[in-house]
Amino acid sequence: MAKSPDQEHPHKAFGWAARDKSGLLSPFHFSRRENGDEDVTIKILFCGVCHSDLHVAKNEWGFTNYPVVPGHEIVGTVMKVGSNVKKFKVGERVGVGVIVGSCKKCESCQQDLENYCPQTIFTYNSHYTDGTKTYGGYSDMIVVDERFVLRFPDNLPSEGGAPLLCAGITVYSPMKYYGMTEPGKHLGVAGLGGLGHVAVKIGKAFGLKVTVISSSPKKEAEAIERLGADSFLVTSDRTKMKAALGTMDYIIDTVSAVHPLLPLLSLLKLNGKLVTVGLFDKPLELPIFPLVLGRKLVGGNEIGGMKETQEMLDFCAKHGVTADVEVIRMDYINTAMERLAKYDVKYRFVIDVASSLSQ
Ligand code: NAP
Ligand code: ZN
Repeated sequence: MAKSPDQEHPHKAFGWAARDKSGLLSPFHFSRRENGDEDVTIKILFCGVCHSDLHVAKNEWGFTNYPVVPGHEIVGTVMKVGSNVKKFKVGERVGVGVIVGSCKKCESCQQDLENYCPQTIFTYNSHYTDGTKTYGGYSDMIVVDERFVLRFPDNLPSEGGAPLLCAGITVYSPMKYYGMTEPGKHLGVAGLGGLGHVAVKIGKAFGLKVTVISSSPKKEAEAIERLGADSFLVTSDRTKMKAALGTMDYIIDTVSAVHPLLPLLSLLKLNGKLVTVGLFDKPLELPIFPLVLGRKLVGGNEIGGMKETQEMLDFCAKHGVTADVEVIRMDYINTAMERLAKYDVKYRFVIDVASSLSQ
């Protein structure tokens, strides 16, 4: 018989887990593996709350394996390193994002695209090679293969920097891959949540003109004054949407639920590119006429590889890009999840794990 989660590994660990599709989280005792030769043991300081955590906690993608400890925007301190670990020392601040393992041999891994490896091991709701479950960052400590640990630049604050480990790389990577970084070009960012607000800031750091495309009129002043967007479009405002037709070179679509693509495709110029990163279990309708007649491109993107994630952290540190966060205690997580489901967060919850996770 399989061992219980608190017995399968030698190190006692503690976190908060969702047990069923209500998504409600509660205290959970489990265990972590012994630090291997290639491993880094990390004491978790902060962890961001991504909308993916909510999708998984509520089984909205249909493959949640309960109990699930979410959290893949982890910043912590190195407590122990294995004998073969070269990049990290005890006491350093490090980051862990969405993935903690891959085969390291396939074509994707060889191109530093571990995120697209068929055997990617996700930080939570996945399995290690020994068959035990992975548990995420809403917990006190984690043991991670050094290839999947990031150097955390000194001048990046832990709280505002944590969300870059998922939200940041998920918008940075497609901008680089699809060639959406030419200074002066016009970027639309659909959905002003965790990913969207970081996309605005990264877009500005690349020298783009940035327009937020939002369903929430109340976000306008902040988008411009605080986040640095050049303009703001509310999707329900037909007059302004019409005036903006054919004005954008690129769009990053971060909307977390089913929505029509036609209004977004119509905003693009000839040869415009739309990259969708939101993840939900229903298909989107792809209108063919605007696509074909305008030689437009629709693409997708899943986070980024480890090398590029490091590059993104260094880029954000250099350009002063951080997330706007609301720091919360662990026992506020269920309220935070409720608020996230209603788009009531500016713009990322980050759990102060080290000072609020008590047994
Ligand atoms: P979030 O903070 O909740 O932001 C999502 C935003 O989408 C909301 O703030 C809202 O912005 C807009 N929105 C939500 N529902 C809408 C609807 N029905 N119609 C129109 N607009 C709607 O979420 P997030 O953490 O940024 O994540 C966004 C999505 O990306 C999630 O589905 C998440 O799972 C996915 N994700 C994907 C990857 C990847 O690798 N591809 C990585 C991380 C996350 P407005 O109020 O401005 O309209
Ligand atoms: Zn995420």
